[in-house]
Amino acid sequence: MSNPIQENWSKVQQRLRAEVGEDIYSSWFARMDLEAIDAGTVRLSVPTRFLKSWIQSRYAERVLACWQAVEGEVRCIELTVRSAVRPGAIKSKAESENGAEGPRFLNGNGTAHRPMSAGEANVHEALGGSPLDPRLTFESFVVGRSNTLAHAAAKQVASAKRGDAVMFNPLYIHAGVGLGKTHLLQAITWSANAIGERKALYLTAEKFMYGFVSALRTQTALAFKDALRGIGILVIDDLQFLQGKSTQAEFCHTLNALIDAGRQVIIASDRPPSDLETFDDRVRSRLAGGLVVEMGPLGEELRFEILKTRVIAARAHHPSFDVPPPVLGYIAKTVTHNGRDLEGALNRLLAHSKLTGHAVTLEMAEREVRDLIRPQEPKRVKIEDIQRVVARQYNVSRSDLLSSRRTANVVRPRQVAMYLAKTLTLRSLPEIGRRFGGRDHTTVLHAVRKIEGLVGNDMALAEEIEILKRQLQE
Ligand code: ADP
Ligand code: MG
Repeated sequence: MSNPIQENWSKVQQRLRAEVGEDIYSSWFARMDLEAIDAGTVRLSVPTRFLKSWIQSRYAERVLACWQAVEGEVRCIELTVRSAVRPGAIKSKAESENGAEGPRFLNGNGTAHRPMSAGEANVHEALGGSPLDPRLTFESFVVGRSNTLAHAAAKQVASAKRGDAVMFNPLYIHAGVGLGKTHLLQAITWSANAIGERKALYLTAEKFMYGFVSALRTQTALAFKDALRGIGILVIDDLQFLQGKSTQAEFCHTLNALIDAGRQVIIASDRPPSDLETFDDRVRSRLAGGLVVEMGPLGEELRFEILKTRVIAARAHHPSFDVPPPVLGYIAKTVTHNGRDLEGALNRLLAHSKLTGHAVTLEMAEREVRDLIRPQEPKRVKIEDIQRVVARQYNVSRSDLLSSRRTANVVRPRQVAMYLAKTLTLRSLPEIGRRFGGRDHTTVLHAVRKIEGLVGNDMALAEEIEILKRQLQE
């Protein structure tokens, strides 16, 4: 290439790409153009403000350093947003090869104004949101003790007007499997879109990832981001599945951009923000910065009400379907696991009564749902739960437990947690050691013996441990 500026620019790009990696490079820098170099100032442009702020806040120094490595006299970088139409942006090769004097303007790469590609169409499709189940509305959502707060927050968020101050952002709902997260999130989406004040977009984490990843591949990440920013309420389900550093970084920036712009973000996950282990601290603290609500297990009363609502809904299509209250009571009492099993139990009764023409009786219910009944086997306890519960009990953080700190206020809780991990789970000592910040199995063994020894003499500690066990197993 005969143009020395262009040549240097290529070198800078190569250097940058090597430093930040292909993913990040194509995500953030692929559409950065060199506009001019003027008296030690390099002028670069990007197509959106969003991109400008992102690069400026995170990569400004790195970009400058790359320039300085290639062209020593560069003093500063100026980043601008180029307008959609750049007259004469695409110059002929001949034009860009002269002009060694004064500000030396270069050609853009000419990609800004091409018609929408198939890749972008995919991105828009991805932005169309994940499919919604028409049955998952507020009308069919039963409110009980375990979900009152989550429901109230969801209602409030769904009905807020465009100009209203955003009360909690993000709204973060967490609960175990089958406890109504998706139901509540979809209810918000239906309701907000029906009211029509603010457009709500519901995305599973996979959809978000898929959209983003395919956008990266087709180099249309910006179109994706632009479109996302047209959303009034962004709803993301099952955030725990959002994996990969660059996806998470993208999510983080999307989150910040939306929140700063006063848009509502709603998230559901199977764990609290602090337990999203693969996410970095800043994201976790931002997620925890709005309202975090947990939905507890469905109590028997709530299960009964959910079943009742379901039967009524089913009767719209199957008028002859009837489930006597004692049968509902029986199912509510015995099928305890989660909302999905309740649904499964009713579906069986419905299928059975449709196929045989027999009315639903207690006897039939007992037979049909037998395998959905969970014996009250002790709950399987997870090491993360132990760490969380112990950390809360002793007022230390989970990362303290995993850290190498040796102060007494951390050492004892850590030993207790290891002891519980050994007694309540089937994990081996080396495995437990690994899960506690990569410790040796002998350290775990020492902790277990230590606590075993203490429990015999120290009534207070014995009681504490009993309480912890009960919390973990109930
Ligand atoms: P999650 O997303 O938390 O795993 P879902 O929202 O998919 O759980 O709920 C599982 C099933 O239980 C769905 O059929 C849902 O409608 C039902 N369900 C859960 N909680 C409620 C509730 N409070 N009211 C009505 N149905 C519920
Ligand atoms: Mg779900």
